[in-house]
Amino acid sequence: MKINRTGLTGAALLVALTLSGCASQQQDAADRLNQQSVMALNWFQQSGEYQALAWQAFNFATLAFDHAASLTGKPKAVIVDLDETMIDNSAYSAWQVKANQPFDDKTWSAWTQARQATAIPGAVEFANYVNSHGGTMFYVSNRDGQDAAATADNLKRLGFTGVNDKTLRLKTDSSNKQARFDAIRAEGYNVVLYIGDNLNDYGTATYHQGNAQRRAFVNQNHRLFGTQFIILPNPLYGDWESGLAQGYNTLTPAQKLQTRDANLKAWSDK
Ligand SMILES: [Mg+2]
Repeated sequence: MKINRTGLTGAALLVALTLSGCASQQQDAADRLNQQSVMALNWFQQSGEYQALAWQAFNFATLAFDHAASLTGKPKAVIVDLDETMIDNSAYSAWQVKANQPFDDKTWSAWTQARQATAIPGAVEFANYVNSHGGTMFYVSNRDGQDAAATADNLKRLGFTGVNDKTLRLKTDSSNKQARFDAIRAEGYNVVLYIGDNLNDYGTATYHQGNAQRRAFVNQNHRLFGTQFIILPNPLYGDWESGLAQGYNTLTPAQKLQTRDANLKAWSDK
């Protein structure tokens, strides 16, 4: 048997080269996947337009809160999501690009523990308006329960009021928030507004649904946006991405790139 300098047979060398070729192709695809976030990050972090949209959302939310009907004996409550609704984690997304890293529970938890999320424009002012005008803010997030203390600390440092064990409801078992919403209502609150950056922040209707169903939900409920549902823009990530194809989250980076491309509606100049 002919052994080359690496100690591998010709066949084994071919297999090794093929595997390393596949691995480097996958790495290349993963890098390209991350690079596709750059423009969204530039817009999110640098544009005045993003900031204006956030203020617009919270200015509308304040009007909607003030105009919501009061129910006797039921205190008003507002349910908000946290990430990319009240607090800005785009520095974690930018780190992913710079370090060529996919989203990962471990690095996300490290980011959470670092308590470096910043406030979305208008979010602190809105939360504190609600809490000082007879309402109660509930912070319902799919951050992991093990990060509760760091999350509460981060929120308090940013100036959010009313952050405590009763109002901060993180994920325990399911990322479907409906059960947590129902629990707040069952405690006697008149929930007048839901605020999020993801359609799943309004309940179970869009949970694990594709984009066609998600768009149908918006179409069916379009009158609620601006009155009971307030949405913040998030082009960085969200269930709209996994909604591009069934099983999207299990695809390889190359398959994800292909799926993203296949979802483009392009002008045909032929
Ligand atoms: Mg969010």
